[in-house]
Amino acid sequence: MASSEDPSSSDERPAQDGALPFQLDALGVRGRLVRLGPSLDAVIERHGYPLAVARPLAEAMVLCAALATSLKYDGIFTLQISGDGPIRLLVTDLTTDGALRGYAQFDSWKLAVALGAGPNGIPQGGDAPEGYVPKLFGRGRLAFTVDQGQHTQRYQGVVPLEGATLADCAHTYFRQSEQLPTGIKIEARRTTDNGTHHWRAAALMVQQMPEFDAGRIDVDREQREDDWRKAVILMASATEAEMLDPKLPAMTLLHRLFHAEQPRLFARRPFVARCRCSRERIDRVLRSIRREELDDLRDKSGRVAVKCEFCSTEYTYDDRDLDRIYASAA
Ligand SMILES: [Zn+2]
Repeated sequence: MASSEDPSSSDERPAQDGALPFQLDALGVRGRLVRLGPSLDAVIERHGYPLAVARPLAEAMVLCAALATSLKYDGIFTLQISGDGPIRLLVTDLTTDGALRGYAQFDSWKLAVALGAGPNGIPQGGDAPEGYVPKLFGRGRLAFTVDQGQHTQRYQGVVPLEGATLADCAHTYFRQSEQLPTGIKIEARRTTDNGTHHWRAAALMVQQMPEFDAGRIDVDREQREDDWRKAVILMASATEAEMLDPKLPAMTLLHRLFHAEQPRLFARRPFVARCRCSRERIDRVLRSIRREELDDLRDKSGRVAVKCEFCSTEYTYDDRDLDRIYASAA
């Protein structure tokens, strides 16, 4: 029977998004299972992204959550993918308190061409093909940033976008940045129920624990390698169906995959789709720009409109609002 530090918090209701960390003591490996549903629906359906943009975004959001929860930080973890392909930019971030958000910028025409345009050049609205990274992102880079506030140093890791899938690209990052040996499996899928779309995404990650060897001189290297290989094989045995099944609790899935290793489960970390934008933040951005330069941003009625890329909230400013902002800047 597996133990848990806080069994009550490992409960999972289908409508909740979160990460369930675990440890396989016998193998010297730790990991996490991240599953997202409602927060993806909130982000993706709000923007109405085509399927071939939405699935990479869903995968990037679950990858972001898996990486963020494997680090100790207090602030914001950001994953950014940029390239010269149809999807120009994809940004997703997660705060320590579990607020998740994301958006993508893409070129509709390039996307239609990449997917194979239908008759008369009309896009067929297809899904992202298998191994879509080169096709949809082109040449580009994958960057991770940890921002812990004003008076701390930002950590950034950047690697070229190398690999067919986002999981491959993450593996490139782990290798190139000399991280601990890490394996990750990512799945994302949209289902349609009575005409309503629902998203599910999951990431299963395992990582070798360095502290396992600390201070020991009797470490059997071959055994450590065999243990690591075993953990990766067990991780890879998870099927897409069970990773994405909202009715299969995360706890049950982990026990199913790793039962012989007696997985130890830790407190579940819940996530919710929430944007951090506010009028005060936009005020600060505007204040950093010269007032004359805002003229380009004015709409027909003369107001300045600023839209949050993450949540599409529009903040409008008339001349009186601008007077107030620039008066407080003086
Ligand atoms: Zn926003």
